[in-house]
Amino acid sequence: MGQVTVIGSYVVDLMSRTPHLPVPGETVLGGPFQMGPGGKGGNQATAAARSGSDVTFVTKIGLDVFGEEAMRHFEREGFNVQFIKRSETDATGTALIAVDDRGENNIVIAPGACGTMKRLDVIEAETAIKKADILLIQLEISLEAIKAAIEQASIHRVPVLLNPAPYLPFPSDWLQHVTYATPNETEARGLTGVDVVDESSAQKAANFLHEKGVRVVIITLGEKGVYVSDGTSRGKFIEGFSVKAVDTTGAGDAFNGGFAHAVSSGMPVEEAVQFGQAVAALSVTKIGTAASMPSIEEIKAFLK
Ligand code: ATP
Repeated sequence: MGQVTVIGSYVVDLMSRTPHLPVPGETVLGGPFQMGPGGKGGNQATAAARSGSDVTFVTKIGLDVFGEEAMRHFEREGFNVQFIKRSETDATGTALIAVDDRGENNIVIAPGACGTMKRLDVIEAETAIKKADILLIQLEISLEAIKAAIEQASIHRVPVLLNPAPYLPFPSDWLQHVTYATPNETEARGLTGVDVVDESSAQKAANFLHEKGVRVVIITLGEKGVYVSDGTSRGKFIEGFSVKAVDTTGAGDAFNGGFAHAVSSGMPVEEAVQFGQAVAALSVTKIGTAASMPSIEEIKAFLK
């Protein structure tokens, strides 16, 4: 079983339907209400664990009721929870989501405890990084914590999968320690300045990242699929799976968790990409983020 260590965010998604999104000062009577685990770190950890990996999740939550609920989710998913920190002062992160009848949404994220993760929190999880077959990180926690995670992985020669989402600027020399980078089109533009509109611009963006030291670049292109480049020859576009999508939120998280599991278990990159795309395709057929991640049985049946 591959060992995947995820260092990242956890927030609880608190979602209400509403006939229309409230304007400033307005109160709207909405419903129904749904609550579920979220945050890119938690979602990707869930996708990797359900794909079959042994997952250690490093995050910070509060001592509040949402923190208790989070621990129950982590334990249900079989995560190693040894490096989950509980803050005595900060609340568990929340995402307040309103979705109207047209599917438009308003989201307020209060990162709470996971937003306060520091360099020391990551250093204390050194053994979880050292033993990993892959370190999976995103950009939803502080840059200080991300930098520490990349440094630790580099010291222990652990491959790093960076999902640069949501995009925010960071020192480009970090990229020399990144084995796999998985931007979507928006994040690719942020990282490279290149608008990815076709195969040639995708390769241009990939080359920019290869020059900074990234070994494999995987640009996710929504329902179209992905563009993969390993810098040794011209990259290629790999089509996604065609499914009836009902909720595409978390597709990127599903892809990253699935790909991390597959590539760290020894699958060649292209095969691991298809595994990730299968996990993502299955996730968009269900509502929710972490809750919509497929089980290994569902993935195997889908790929048959
Ligand atoms: P999000 O922010 O919604 O989580 P993202 O922008 O990070 O997603 P995408 O590029 O939209 O990531 O999707 C990641 C992968 O998920 C795609 O490369 C594709 O394999 C799969 N995917 C996304 N949408 C669909 C869809 N409608 N049908 C099938 N597969 C999909």
